[in-house]
Amino acid sequence: MTAVMWFRRDLRLADNPALVDAAADGEVLPLFVLDPALWGPSGLPRKLYLGDSLRALDGALRDGPRNTGGLQVVRGDPVRRVVLAAREVGATRVHVAADFGPYGSARDRAVEQALAEHGIELVRTGSPYAVAPGRVTKADGAPYAVFTPFSRAWTDHGWRPPIDAPNRVTYLTLQETAEVPDRERPDALSLPQAGEAAAVRRWRTFLDERIDRYQDDRDKPGVAGTSQMSVHLKWGEIHPRTMLADLARRRSRGAATYRTELAWREFYADVLHHRPETAREYLRGEYAAMAYDEPGDQLDRWRRGRTGFPIVDAGMRQLQQTGWMHNRVRMIVASFLVKDLHVEWQHGARHFMQHLVDGDLASNQHSWQWTAGCGTDAAPYFRVFNPVSQGRKFDPDGAYVRRWVPELADVADPHEPVDPIVDHAEERREALARWERIRS
Ligand SMILES: Cc1cc2nc3c(=O)[nH]c(=O)nc-3n(C[C@H](O)[C@H](O)[C@H](O)COP(=O)(O)OP(=O)(O)OC[C@H]3O[C@@H](n4cnc5c(N)ncnc54)[C@H](O)[C@@H]3O)c2cc1C
Repeated sequence: MTAVMWFRRDLRLADNPALVDAAADGEVLPLFVLDPALWGPSGLPRKLYLGDSLRALDGALRDGPRNTGGLQVVRGDPVRRVVLAAREVGATRVHVAADFGPYGSARDRAVEQALAEHGIELVRTGSPYAVAPGRVTKADGAPYAVFTPFSRAWTDHGWRPPIDAPNRVTYLTLQETAEVPDRERPDALSLPQAGEAAAVRRWRTFLDERIDRYQDDRDKPGVAGTSQMSVHLKWGEIHPRTMLADLARRRSRGAATYRTELAWREFYADVLHHRPETAREYLRGEYAAMAYDEPGDQLDRWRRGRTGFPIVDAGMRQLQQTGWMHNRVRMIVASFLVKDLHVEWQHGARHFMQHLVDGDLASNQHSWQWTAGCGTDAAPYFRVFNPVSQGRKFDPDGAYVRRWVPELADVADPHEPVDPIVDHAEERREALARWERIRS
């Protein structure tokens, strides 16, 4: 028997239940489809990172005990491409990890239908989450709208232990495949190393060196206190279940805090699964009626890291140059866009999705909505971040700002705004006035 393993956001061999299922069928075609609908709108950092990750998976497949032609990459609409590939190798099943995003789940239904017309089955096994979205519900079956009770129920629900990579699989090839694009890399762009081996290395180093201080260091952008695992989780180079199993062997506060952060990722996936329209629309509909400004030059300055507020500019430049931004700073720059510049969150979320290598629709859109005050369990709207005092509090020695805003490297007080594009106190009042209008 022959099966297709269609890789999407699970670019790894270990702890991959869909791959284990495919291998149980017999010979396996390891397939990846470059889908222009997803590939097209991505920014350069995301494209480069995905390209690296695909090359790493290709290398891992070629290194296996049965020498293979590696990952078989094709380009085009998955509905057509997956059917063609399955038919070419005579597969009776196509195995995937279930996708719970709005685009992915609709795409999978279309592919499933097209395959069925040829007597081929689409088999969904596992997901990119420890607990699949939709599984954790209240006693009456309703989804959770608030994080803390979700997180408790998620822990009670539990998850399976990780599984090993299948061995002795014979991998098949296609007659014609596409090149994984490798664009020119600007010197100024420095991306993390991609692939399963890099993900495991980074995770082990974090466990060995930083996890026990995580609860204290995670809010300090000038300190390497977080794991930077988000990009590996995004592309499924490691499964969260593997990480949760390692965390369960530790009893530190850091490990407990880290587990809660992973729960946020699962919570947002669950919220988006139940409310797919909130990828674009306000979770709390009343906020759509608030007065916002048309995006213009100020949005552009925010994007380029030229607002005159040091911590905001540092974050936006870190994003531009590395495809990643520290969580505390993501909150500060998001709050600044919505509450100081009065621009709707969707503009900021779109910019993030283009540039973040870890850009994930559920985590990104819902973290934006949370910060903007219109999301789940939201910080109350009247709590407006002051970018200067936030900078002083979380980056007290200015190490973060000095690193990313080189023109401030040698000034005495790097958090003092320089030619700020707005007056924060004034814009805070304005934001609250606009909010009062939708409340009454
Ligand atoms: C405006 C805004 C946009 C964001 N966009 C994204 C995004 O597109 N993709 C993304 O993965 N995260 C996003 N986050 C959440 C968070 O900032 C990143 O997950 C985190 O900074 C990644 O770095 P890390 O792996 O070092 O985090 P760590 O502190 O090491 O956290 C461990 C893991 O927990 C998860 N996690 C942590 N915080 C959150 C959170 N608030 N929501 C969901 N998961 C979380 C991530 O998977 C992360 O890798 C966003 C946050 C904000 C405020």
